[in-house]
Amino acid sequence: MNKNDKILIIGAGLCGSLLALRLAQRGHQVTLVEKRPDLRRQSLDAGRSINLALSDRGLNALKMAGMDQKALAISLPMHGRMIHQLQRDPFFSPYSGNPNTAINSISRPGLNALLLDAIEALGKVNLYFDAPCIGLDLETCAAQFEQNSSDPEQQDKSVLEIQANVIFGCDGAGSVVRKTLQEQNGADFKFSLDWLSHGYKELSIAPGADGSFQLRADALHIWPRGQDMIIALPNLDHSFTVTLFMSHTEYPHGFDHIESAPQIRHYFEEKYPELLQLIPDLIEQYQENPTGPLGTVKCGPWNAKGNVLILGDAAHAIVPFYGQGMNASFEDVLVLDQLMDSGITEWSALFDQFAQKRKKDADAIADLALDNFHEMKEHTADPIFQRKRGIEVRLEQERSEQYQSKYSMVTFSPELTYHQAMTRGRAQDRAIEQLLRQNKLNESQELDEQLLLIQGHTNALLEQKEPND
Ligand SMILES: Cc1cc2nc3c(=O)[nH]c(=O)nc-3n(C[C@H](O)[C@H](O)[C@H](O)COP(=O)(O)OP(=O)(O)OC[C@H]3O[C@@H](n4cnc5c(N)ncnc54)[C@H](O)[C@@H]3O)c2cc1C
Repeated sequence: MNKNDKILIIGAGLCGSLLALRLAQRGHQVTLVEKRPDLRRQSLDAGRSINLALSDRGLNALKMAGMDQKALAISLPMHGRMIHQLQRDPFFSPYSGNPNTAINSISRPGLNALLLDAIEALGKVNLYFDAPCIGLDLETCAAQFEQNSSDPEQQDKSVLEIQANVIFGCDGAGSVVRKTLQEQNGADFKFSLDWLSHGYKELSIAPGADGSFQLRADALHIWPRGQDMIIALPNLDHSFTVTLFMSHTEYPHGFDHIESAPQIRHYFEEKYPELLQLIPDLIEQYQENPTGPLGTVKCGPWNAKGNVLILGDAAHAIVPFYGQGMNASFEDVLVLDQLMDSGITEWSALFDQFAQKRKKDADAIADLALDNFHEMKEHTADPIFQRKRGIEVRLEQERSEQYQSKYSMVTFSPELTYHQAMTRGRAQDRAIEQLLRQNKLNESQELDEQLLLIQGHTNALLEQKEPND
């Protein structure tokens, strides 16, 4: 891994920008090419999720590049969930007994711009915008990009070819680099894309008349409604970004069936009356904003020919129900960086080890995100599930040193890999549910007795599993 090697990164989104910054900080020669215009010069994010929950794994990776505090400075901490049930008072459920535990609401373009500014300030990365990658040759390690003429009078597009020693594909869920791996690696490349039954639509709650937040600002707001749900995250300008998750096709509550103004009004009156008050132009927003699809991409191998590697959403796009897609993509960069410090000298060996180490964690967070989707939809109304959550909330608040829910392991414990968090978290969930169903665990027991029972049964379940499971 010679410092003179030419590194090409395709995609200057969140993952590609952090990777470019880190590799340049390490003294490598980096070229970063982005399909879209520079988001710092023009607003591009209509219809994309405009704020995201940044949590410990993402922060750890940003810290590696000296960017964590800068990111926190433009984010808002959310210390728990505010649950809005129909016809009942909302209640706040903290993420932990530790008042400092929080996930952070951050603007996607704001964070991306922060990383691009840091890259430019370093002055070592060749940056190209408005240049979609249109072709890639794995054998020669060269990529072609379409470039618009800088003269607006000129309609002609030219093709820029960049020759590199290694190429990183950070070009998101629809990755051209991944498609090339698939085409040029043939049957050796395994790929699946599973679309979710549900899509999403973003809406916005403006600040109140006095400019203040219209909802509690230190919480992630959730309106769970069985088959569909809404979440809202606060923004620095005192607005909230609201995301409706709903089936595309289901009748009557599916995007395909809720289109006209009366249909939209009726749906919100029935399910989310509060939001009709909070968003006076809700119908216009609903009709104007696009509906986005959600899917899970699993594929591999992520590397080819010793000189190409995909990472971030290009390698493992996931559904957003754990708020981990960006965090996982940032963690990819951290894992790669740590491997670079481990004595590996060849890019090919680095890429092999990265893919080997990271694939099962990417699969784990993809599966956890789907679990959470089903859990939120189906289980939240189940009495056993509600009792389990009640017991867990008390344990997390009053025994925070000894007890962590699956959500906490995934979100607040980057020292555990996603796979470890999934294995232990799932066993723990199963243990509590079994103990409740068998009437061995109940709310009248002392907390320490509950803790011992849960830990004992969780360990027993883990021991029953295969050693490599
Ligand atoms: C509704 C929703 C909510 C989400 N909420 C969260 C959350 O709360 N927390 C969280 O951690 N994650 C969340 N995510 C996931 C998160 O958005 C992604 O995981 C993250 O953006 C992945 O980063 P990336 O850089 O790999 O891909 P992207 O952000 O998609 O960036 C890819 C970049 O590559 C560029 N590109 C694409 N094709 C080409 C090409 N041919 N040539 C050159 N450039 C190209 C794109 O323009 C883009 O800039 C959410 C996702 C959705 C859909």
